[in-house]
Amino acid sequence: ERRQLHRLRREPTRTLDGVDIRLYANAESRADVAEAHALGAAGLGLYRTEYLFLQGDVAPDEEAQFRAYRDAVLGMTGRTVTIRTLDLGADKADRAGLTLPREPNPALGCRGVRLSLARGDIFAIQMRALLRASGYGPLRILVPMVASREEMLQVTALLKSTRDALRAEGHHVADEVPLGAMIEVPAAALALPSLTDTVDFLSIGTNDLVQYMLAADRNNDALEALQSPLHPAVMRILRDVIRIGRMRGLPVAVCGEMAGDPAFVPLLLALGLEEFSLHPATLLEVRQAIRGCDLGALRRRAGALLRARDRVGIERWMRQATT
Ligand code: PEP
Ligand code: MG
Repeated sequence: ERRQLHRLRREPTRTLDGVDIRLYANAESRADVAEAHALGAAGLGLYRTEYLFLQGDVAPDEEAQFRAYRDAVLGMTGRTVTIRTLDLGADKADRAGLTLPREPNPALGCRGVRLSLARGDIFAIQMRALLRASGYGPLRILVPMVASREEMLQVTALLKSTRDALRAEGHHVADEVPLGAMIEVPAAALALPSLTDTVDFLSIGTNDLVQYMLAADRNNDALEALQSPLHPAVMRILRDVIRIGRMRGLPVAVCGEMAGDPAFVPLLLALGLEEFSLHPATLLEVRQAIRGCDLGALRRRAGALLRARDRVGIERWMRQATT
């Protein structure tokens, strides 16, 4: 069976009825980038930059970040590389060479884009490094923890001023550096039409989206039953985000753990998803699952999935979808 999976490295990610689905990889190390490339990922859908900040006791400087981002772009040989801006908060800050005030509730605190906008010194360096790397191949920038339009407008302004400054210094910066928002704060998902003109693509972070929708700390083991995406509210929000993205012509991916579990493939396809981003470890299994799905049949059953009233009902739908 391993052999059979191995053979899928060179096969397309195509459903039984002939629709191509894009499989991007999540990466947080050089090894992940190499593996993503070898497995035939369409690109990187989520390159987490936190690992660079958690390696030493000082934050990485512009050169160190630039080299890491450029190497990811070069390593993917022309496939799209989506790099997420820093998603740290008070929970990990002391390990990252940043001094930040302690917070009683870091999940609801100054993390992700909030931290980047509060610490313009750190963000400006990261933006310079990202835009310099864009001169080496297709690079997209993904912003975590977006809650409002104002945040995206501020990031856009920084992107433009940084690009002008770099060009004035003689650096090559790509003409197109698409900017995307992680959809993981429920307010951003619910007010999505107010954000769509500020972004070029969307990536749904189901790990945090489930945490915030169900008000269940993702690190609290006692809440395991509530930490599942198999809730009717999650089905509806996924359907809506995917649909609104498509109506506005924006690519929409899911990059949370959910996208890496082959058991969720029929469900995500039924909800309209066409792009997955997942850790290379299960990329071939997910490709295999997609190749066994009839997309038309699944889409016709989306209504039944959205009518399921509880986890048991959604699980019943999943069993029926695979028989
Ligand atoms: C998510 O929240 O689903 C996500 C992909 O980001 P992270 O797990 O890094 O918070
Ligand atoms: Mg997240």
